[in-house]
Order: sequence, then structure tokens, then C-alpha cells
Amino acid sequence: MIKTIVLATHNPHKVEEFQKAVDKKYKIVSADEIGILEEPLETGKTFSENALIKARFVASKTSFPVIADDSGLEIHALGNFPGIYSSRFMEGHTYQEKCLELINRLSPFKDKSAHFTSCIAYIDEERNEFVFEGKCEGMIIDKMMGNQGFGYDPIFYVPAYNKTFAELSIEEKSVISHRGKSIQKWLKFLLSK
Ligand code: IMP
Repeated sequence: MIKTIVLATHNPHKVEEFQKAVDKKYKIVSADEIGILEEPLETGKTFSENALIKARFVASKTSFPVIADDSGLEIHALGNFPGIYSSRFMEGHTYQEKCLELINRLSPFKDKSAHFTSCIAYIDEERNEFVFEGKCEGMIIDKMMGNQGFGYDPIFYVPAYNKTFAELSIEEKSVISHRGKSIQKWLKFLLSK
């Protein structure tokens, strides 16, 4: 029988992304699909703490294995801001406004380096906890480029590809992205069991 894993999200795009990664070996269902509609407060100080908070919350309400992720953009000259606040930063504003604000805040600095981080928390049937991390290094450019992807993709430039995340196809991005890397680490672990 195909094993079910509950993904602690209400975002169908994330379900699709994780389902693609595990192929037909596992069935990924979102928390809402099994009737878990509430979300915990993300009170952690790191991506891994927040991923664990989300995974533990769902694991307390189901006996299935659970996976949760937390991710964000860290700009070095801004002290790794927005980091864990990536989605909460300038709440109510568009990503175009958020991107332009970050470009503006970074303009006095010479160092434009940044990275994305993704942490995946996995809680198995026995309630053992595991965390997998992926990072992608890049630079913040001074104008938005490309229209694929989401969030801060248009300002995150990857020198090896000479493109921003928003100029890469989903397939290209998933090979090098923070989330692609953390998913691959989790998958390797899962398949080794
Ligand atoms: P969460 O992991 O769903 O809490 O979201 C983290 C936030 O980080 C997103 O809402 C985006 O603002 C940002 N983020 C995370 N990964 C990416 C990415 O691959 N591209 C652009 N923005 C991202």
C-alpha cells in the first residue's frame, strides 16, 4: 500500500512540488485535506524551529508521518534580513513592493550577496524528528528581472546561470534551489529506510 505523508501546509503548490519529488512512492496530502485547518504561530527564531513547530502541530492531530517546511531569503549586508520574516515582511504589500523596498535598503551597501534557506522537518510514525536543510547562494540585483516563480525570485540572481530565479524554468530552479536541495536530502533519507 502507498504510504501517506501529511504536508503541514494549506498551499496546493507546495503539495504539488512535494508530490512531484516523491513521485508515486508516497501520497502527499495537505493538512486541510485531512481536516486540520488551524495553523500554529511561527514563534521560532530559526527556519528549523519554525518547520518543527508546524510539523509538531500537525503531528499532534494525526497518526500519519508529517512533513513541514520553512524558508526565506537572507541578505548578508542587512544582517540576514528578511530571513524568517520573509513572508511577514511588509505584510499586505505586493511582492513587487517588497522587492523594491529590499533593493532600496540594500542600495548603500557594496555587498549584494544573499542566500535562500529551506528547512524541512519530518516526523515519522514513531514520532522521531528529523530536519533537512538546503541553501542556494546568489546576489540581489538592483532591478526586478523575469516573471516565473514567486516571492523574491525576480531580485535573486544566480551567477552560475547568469539569470534570476524568476528567469529560470521550474525544472532548472528545482535543481539548484534551497527547497530542491532540502527535498532531495529528505527523499534520500526516506528511500534509505
Ligand atoms: P514559507 O516557507 O511558506 O513560510 O514562506 C517563506 C517566504 O520566503 C515566502 O513567502 C517567500 O517570501 C520567501 N521564499 C521562500 N522560498 C522562496 C523562493 O524559492 N523564491 C522566492 N521567495 C521565496
